[in-house]
Amino acid sequence: MRHRIAVVGAGPAGLTFARVLHRHAHPVTVLERDPAPDARPPGGTLDLQQGLGQLALRKAGLHADFRALSRPEGQAMRILDPDGTVLRDWKPRPDDHAHPEIDRGQLRDLLLGPLDVHWGRSVTRVVPTPGDGTTVHFTDGRHQTYDLVIGADGAWSRVRPALSPETPHYTGVTAVETSLPDLDTRHPDLARLVGDGSMAVFGRNRALVAQRGSGGHVKAYAQFRAPLDWHTDLDPDDADAVRSRLLALYDGWTAPVLDLLRHGTTFTHRPIHALPVAHTWTHVPGVTLLGDAAHLMPPLGAGANLAMLEGAELAESIAASAPGDLDDAVRAFEERMWARAGRWAQHTTAGLERLVGPDPSEALALFDEVHMS
Ligand SMILES: Cc1cc2nc3c(=O)[nH]c(=O)nc-3n(C[C@H](O)[C@H](O)[C@H](O)COP(=O)(O)OP(=O)(O)OC[C@H]3O[C@@H](n4cnc5c(N)ncnc54)[C@H](O)[C@@H]3O)c2cc1C
Repeated sequence: MRHRIAVVGAGPAGLTFARVLHRHAHPVTVLERDPAPDARPPGGTLDLQQGLGQLALRKAGLHADFRALSRPEGQAMRILDPDGTVLRDWKPRPDDHAHPEIDRGQLRDLLLGPLDVHWGRSVTRVVPTPGDGTTVHFTDGRHQTYDLVIGADGAWSRVRPALSPETPHYTGVTAVETSLPDLDTRHPDLARLVGDGSMAVFGRNRALVAQRGSGGHVKAYAQFRAPLDWHTDLDPDDADAVRSRLLALYDGWTAPVLDLLRHGTTFTHRPIHALPVAHTWTHVPGVTLLGDAAHLMPPLGAGANLAMLEGAELAESIAASAPGDLDDAVRAFEERMWARAGRWAQHTTAGLERLVGPDPSEALALFDEVHMS
C-alpha cells in the first residue's frame, strides 16, 4: 500500500518534494493557500547553486530545462561605494554554471509541470495522532487525515506548532523592495550601472542591492538597520512617501545609485526574520517540516537552495522506504537536514551582520572571501 502523503505549501520546498515523488510514481497531495499560481507577483530572481538547488533539479529530472531557462551571466556582481566608486566588477566565465539565476516565476512553472496542486486550500493547523496519522484542518472548516504531512509552508508555518514552539524573530535589519520594469529601455544609464547581474552598495548600517531578472526587469532592495516599527507613520501604499523616507535615509549617496529608489514603482516592506540558528525539535511520527518552515534564515542565497534539496532528498527517501519504514526514513532525513541547515544558518546570520553593519569594509571582505574561495 502507498503512503497517504500531503505537503502544505507550493513554494520551492513543497513543489520540489512533490515533483520528485511524482517522478517516482508516488501519489502526493499538494495543499496551497494561494487561490492560483499567479495570484500574487512571484518575486525576483533566485540563484541556484550546483550542489544544492541544481542538484535537486537533477533529482527531479529538470536540470536540462533549468539550464535552458537560467541566466549564467546573472552571476555578475558589482560593488560600489556610496560615492559611486566601483570597488569590484566581477564577471563569470562563459562556462561558469556554479549558481546561475532564474526568475522565481519560471522556477515555479518548471516545478509545477504535471502536478495537480489543490489551490486555495489554506491550512490552519495539523494534529498528529500517534498510530492514526495526522489531520490537516483548513480555514473552511474541513479536515483530512494523511499518513505523513509535510510543512513546507514557509516562515509563518501553520504546521510548525505541531513540532516546535519557536517563531521567527526580527533580525534588526529591514528590507524595502522596489521594482524597476524594463530598465534597459526606460533608464539605460541605470541599467548599465547595474550590469548583467547584481549590484550592491554598502554604507554604514545600510545597503542598496539591485538584481536583474529576465526581460530587463530589475528589483532593488534597500536594506538597513531599524526598529521593526520604523514605518508606522507611513502609508505603505503611498509610494511617494516611502520613496522620500528612503531617500532621506540614504542622504549623501551618489545620485545614479539613488535613481534605483527614484525610479522604483511600488515599495514592499520586508523585515528580515529568522528562526533560531540550529532549530530542531523532538521527532513526532506523521509530521515534519522543510525549507523556511524548518529553518528560516537571513536571505543570503541559501534558503530556496536548501528548501529544494531537502524536498528532493525527503521524496527520494520516502520513495525508497518500505511501508513500515516511513517513520525511520523521515527521522533520518530530519537529522541530515538539521546538520546542514544549522551550518548555513550560522553562515547567513554572521553574513547579515557583516553586510548590513557599522563597517562597510566587512561587506567587501565577505564578497572577497566568497569569490576567492
Ligand atoms: C529578497 C529575497 C531574496 C532571496 N534570494 C534567494 C536566493 O537567491 N537564493 C536562495 O536560495 N534563497 C533566496 N531567498 C530565500 C528564499 O526565498 C526562501 O528561502 C524560499 O522561498 C523558501 O522556500 P519554501 O518553499 O520553504 O517557502 P516559501 O517560498 O515561503 O513557500 C511557502 C508556500 O506555502 C504557502 N503557504 C503558507 N502558509 C500556508 C498555509 N497556511 N496553508 C497552505 N499554504 C500555505 C505559501 O503561499 C507559499 O506558496 C531570498 C529571500 C528573499 C526575501
